[in-house]
Amino acid sequence: MRAFIHDQPTLRVVFGDGRLADLPQEADRLGLKRLLVLSTPEQEDAGKNAVKLLGPRAAGLYAQARMHVPIEVAQIARAEAKRVDADGTVAIGGGTTTGLAKAIALELDLPSIAVPTTYAGSEMTSIYGLTEGGEKKTGRSDKVRPKAVIYDPTLTYGMPARLSATSGMNALAHCVEALYASDTTPIIQLYAADSIRAFARSLPVILREPNNAAARSDAHYAAWLAGIALDRTVMGLHHKLCHTLGGSFDLPHAEVHTVILPHATAYNRAAAPEAMRLIAASLGAEDAAQGLYDLASRLGAPVSLAEIGMKEQNLDRAADLATKTPYPNPRPVERAPLRQLLDDAYRGKRPSA
Ligand code: NAD
Repeated sequence: MRAFIHDQPTLRVVFGDGRLADLPQEADRLGLKRLLVLSTPEQEDAGKNAVKLLGPRAAGLYAQARMHVPIEVAQIARAEAKRVDADGTVAIGGGTTTGLAKAIALELDLPSIAVPTTYAGSEMTSIYGLTEGGEKKTGRSDKVRPKAVIYDPTLTYGMPARLSATSGMNALAHCVEALYASDTTPIIQLYAADSIRAFARSLPVILREPNNAAARSDAHYAAWLAGIALDRTVMGLHHKLCHTLGGSFDLPHAEVHTVILPHATAYNRAAAPEAMRLIAASLGAEDAAQGLYDLASRLGAPVSLAEIGMKEQNLDRAADLATKTPYPNPRPVERAPLRQLLDDAYRGKRPSA
């Protein structure tokens, strides 16, 4: 028998090729007159373009967003928002840039418009993260969720092949865990399954043809759904483990997700059969964990922790850290099988059937 609570905040989404041009209207709709545009140094040109589009509604550009939102960067950006008397922000970029807008919103209550250029999905969530003294702390607050999101798939054409692949696998991880989350709902399962389907058919095309309009549009659509799935459910072993590995061993975010996902899925195989069936069917594979591993391999994405900088002698500590505090997961998280999972992931083994 079904029983669930489905609670979904309304969030305006503008989707389509070239829709970045709608940015001024979206600002007007929200009554925002002095927007601080945010980007990373690598995407400063995209930031400048947004400033140009906003015209008199732009209060400035802060192009120093940095991965995992170091507190020092958040403080400078907040000071800049105050200095230019901003009444809102525009985050143009990936999860790093959206994360900076969230850090500003958290303290200054400034609404933001997100223009995502990767598949991270942060633009749909109330989840924020800040890194202080080498430790990333995350939390949830409704005030950090952007007020409007513009998905313009043409902005993703320039995303390098490796980032396209790992960012897509990162989004797939949100879907996998949403499907077996204790608080999942039938609507979230529809979103997650369709997101997996759309990624599975579009990512291999993108790798061959980065400017394929239909595939880029499909993948950006999939990222939107994955972001909602992430926001609406409690994540399990996979996200906990990636957070531990990324935070404590300084491994790159999307790559860690790519490597761990097939192994975390295999770990939960017997405990979440319905989710596994949906994942496998959406991937067009026999088995969920193997299908994810094969997709990552086909995309030329990393499949082992060794190749992304993890040291073998740190696997024991990683297992200790990841089992220190309990968290929800379909299969109980125990040290011995988790240590085995880490070993398999370190060596890049294809999960067995
Ligand atoms: P990113 O934002 O760190 O981007 C990586 C690099 O690629 C940056 O230099 C960026 O400027 C560049 N880039 C982005 N889009 C590009 C494009 N279209 N073309 C060319 N270059 C481009 O990468 P990400 O994977 O999107 O974000 C990772 C961060 O997001 C992590 O800190 C992660 O914790 C966070 N995140 C947060 C949430 C959440 O809900 N809070 C969800 C997912 C990820």
